[in-house]
Amino acid sequence: LNRRLAEFGTTIFAEMSALAVQTGSINLGQGFPDTDGPEEIREAAVRALRDGRGNQYPPGPGVPELRTAIAAHQQRRYALSYDPDTEVLVTAGATEAIAASLLALLEPGDEVIALEPYYDSYAACIAMAGGTRVPVTLRPDGDSFRLDLDELRAAVTDRTRLLLINTPHNPTGTVLTREELTAIAELAVERDLLVVTDEVYEHLVFDDAEHIPLATFPGMRDRTVTIGSAGKTFSFTGWKVGWVTGSPSLVSAVRSAKQFLTYVASGPFQYAVAEALALPDSYYEAFRADMLAKRDLLASGLAEAGFGVFRTAGTYFITTDIRPLGAVLSQEGDGFAFCRALPERAGVVAIPNAVFYDHREAGAPFVRFAFCKQTGVLEEAVKRLKGLA
Ligand code: PMP
Ligand code: GLN
Repeated sequence: LNRRLAEFGTTIFAEMSALAVQTGSINLGQGFPDTDGPEEIREAAVRALRDGRGNQYPPGPGVPELRTAIAAHQQRRYALSYDPDTEVLVTAGATEAIAASLLALLEPGDEVIALEPYYDSYAACIAMAGGTRVPVTLRPDGDSFRLDLDELRAAVTDRTRLLLINTPHNPTGTVLTREELTAIAELAVERDLLVVTDEVYEHLVFDDAEHIPLATFPGMRDRTVTIGSAGKTFSFTGWKVGWVTGSPSLVSAVRSAKQFLTYVASGPFQYAVAEALALPDSYYEAFRADMLAKRDLLASGLAEAGFGVFRTAGTYFITTDIRPLGAVLSQEGDGFAFCRALPERAGVVAIPNAVFYDHREAGAPFVRFAFCKQTGVLEEAVKRLKGLA
């Protein structure tokens, strides 16, 4: 393994999901739903397979039906207008979209500012692209994690090429506000930075939070690569269908990298996702309402079990502080030790947020639980966690 990748080891999601299987624990670690997306969309995939649509290499940028549906979705939801032929690219999940964007847009030595804690593939992909990551830490502030805008501004240097943003934010559940996004956009314009924005949880925002794509801010449309995912939005994480929207020059750059990573992906699923994106608003509302009820169930259960619970404004994750459990139960506030012991102690798997930090000590006491699970599963997990004390 080369030096660029050596520090990353095995992804925490694989490690923790394997531990869940081994110990027969409830897996609230890796973020995947335990209920598949809409039946009619599964049927659409079967029909595409049977009719022979997409069983051979689909077109490099994605099938026209899906690119058109992605553009229509951005228009309908956000009044963002993209040309399906030149400004939309279908990828093998958001994961490939992130990789291809970084590989296409970075020169070796370029600095990339990423919000810390960051989704684990960001660091590895920045490294593969020869870039240098510059983390700006979201810090606990009341019941949520917030971005310090002065810290963000101070992190920009002459070598900064790109801001890598994620909102709604995994793992903290923070949704960046209009004010925060305005400041990020102004900074990008002022310092002439590119922005890659991972908005895969765009449809999972709760209470009074609002998801506002960065590309909608003044001066942003043509410097922003926006990433979405059918895995998240339609609960088909195994299909690996994601996408990128942006200006023709940015999308063509990302496509240059993508063609040598996978060339193309997921032929028949692309047709099904095209149909999914055209589902009426009632689908998106029901999906959100379902996850909101699950958030509330898990959040109150975790609080009753003694965890400090941060408010999830978006995503399907809850970040907790384990220190209120006490020194013994929380293993001295060490999230890694806590998560490694939790399957044996309680039959539940969670993710230590520290893996998403360069400043590991800043993330040490935080542990993430996923709530994209059936109600009965969440209830049983809560019961087990309450038995911890
Ligand atoms: N970005 C974030 C923030 C995610 O949480 C995930 C999924 N865990 C991805 C990207 C990857 O998405 P996909 O499954 O579409 O590759
Ligand atoms: N995005 C999912 C999470 O944060 C995991 C995806 C993966 O395993 N790579 O849990």
